[in-house]
Amino acid sequence: MPPAGAVARGRQLATLQRLAHEKFTSPTIGRLLDDLARYGESLPYDADDAALLRLTRRKYEQAMLVPNEFVGEIASHGTAAYEAWVKARPANDFAAVRPYLEKTLELSRRFADFFPGYAHIADPLIDQADYGMTVSTIRPLFAELRRELVPLVDAISQQPPVNDACLLQFFPEASQIAFGEEVIRQFGYDFERGRQDKTHHPFMTKFSLDDVRITTRVKENDLGDALFSTLHESGHALYELGINPQFEATPLAEGTSAGVHESQSRLWENLVGRSPGFWQHFYPKLQATFPDQLGTVPLDVFYRAINKVQRSLIRVDADEVTYNLHVIVRFELELALLEGSLSIADLPEAWHAQYGANIGVTAPDDRDGVLQDVHWYGGTIGGMFQGYTIGNILSAQFYTAAQRANPEITDEITQGKFSTLHTWLRENVYCPGSKFTTAELVQRTTGAPLTIRPYIDYLQTKYGALYNLPKTK
Ligand SMILES: [Zn+2]
Repeated sequence: MPPAGAVARGRQLATLQRLAHEKFTSPTIGRLLDDLARYGESLPYDADDAALLRLTRRKYEQAMLVPNEFVGEIASHGTAAYEAWVKARPANDFAAVRPYLEKTLELSRRFADFFPGYAHIADPLIDQADYGMTVSTIRPLFAELRRELVPLVDAISQQPPVNDACLLQFFPEASQIAFGEEVIRQFGYDFERGRQDKTHHPFMTKFSLDDVRITTRVKENDLGDALFSTLHESGHALYELGINPQFEATPLAEGTSAGVHESQSRLWENLVGRSPGFWQHFYPKLQATFPDQLGTVPLDVFYRAINKVQRSLIRVDADEVTYNLHVIVRFELELALLEGSLSIADLPEAWHAQYGANIGVTAPDDRDGVLQDVHWYGGTIGGMFQGYTIGNILSAQFYTAAQRANPEITDEITQGKFSTLHTWLRENVYCPGSKFTTAELVQRTTGAPLTIRPYIDYLQTKYGALYNLPKTK
């Protein structure tokens, strides 16, 4: 779409969302659900129809609580706030977005208030993206994670910095894209059912279970950018492409939560795509693609470069170890805003203070502070960040379960074979779509509730070796 088409597209989306909401909340749907209730109860819990009725009933009851006009109001405000942010970020002009953010916060609070009986005002917002999670379950989880991460980041910071100059050379765009697409083809991304295009801020989008597209962005002076974003988005796409085709056009035909979705993008991007075994296979191919740039760079130097840990300002560019600290800061700021203990006017300063205290860096301006990414300049404040970290935690929990079931996976990856891993994920995680809640899915596929242990073990083992850290246990 040409850039000037955005405003009209925003109006169209607002209309479509309002109409969809109106149709879904019509009394006819309620009657149909009532008529089918007894049938649903007669089925085993695991039956597809039982899950379909359960999920549709839940979504219907939630949608009934939100007035139709409010859905349109939030959508059109989101478009206006986004436009203001697009101009304000390069100009480093927080004052320009401040009234929009104040309105966003007000709308977010009003949205939460449609849901009676919540324990924390952020809970209804979190529930939209990560059903079943609440502030009271996420806060202790993040605190536990933070306790493990901070000493790890400190220990790494005391080591000599990794030299990643080999990635910061000139790499022509066409070759970068071709290489990334070859890798994801081998992961199992089906170009008959998807395609990749370029954008500013990469994402995955789905039009049907047979049309799941991804986007990437290329920096010709930074090899990691396009490649890892392609691997990341392909993970989101593999999830959607793997959903049971019989669920097409029903509420079951999508990933079950933001957290589980992100677990798949991070699994393919990091646990696979930044692993030593993966590059044992692909590095000679990458060297053949870029012989002048990488021909004399040893595998070990390249592997360290793509796994460089560094305290930094921008969440989306952060490494695996520091990334979650960014998320935790954003999550706590969201809660403070919603609780009313922090005002939008004080947000930029609170941002700098939190970054200084938690990540050890402070942005020189708001451009790389509170204006750094598009989140908050869309629909709502609240419920947007927990999914990223839950995704990281689950990426390791799922991967460990896959390896336990198929110990040959690690070896196969060194040969560029991904079918055993992909098949396990498809059968256990992708195929059910939204049939199970996150908690149910994690219990069923890994035999345990959500736990940070596999993720912490993964980080400590990998980065302990990379940075020659003393053993912690
Ligand atoms: Zn993602």
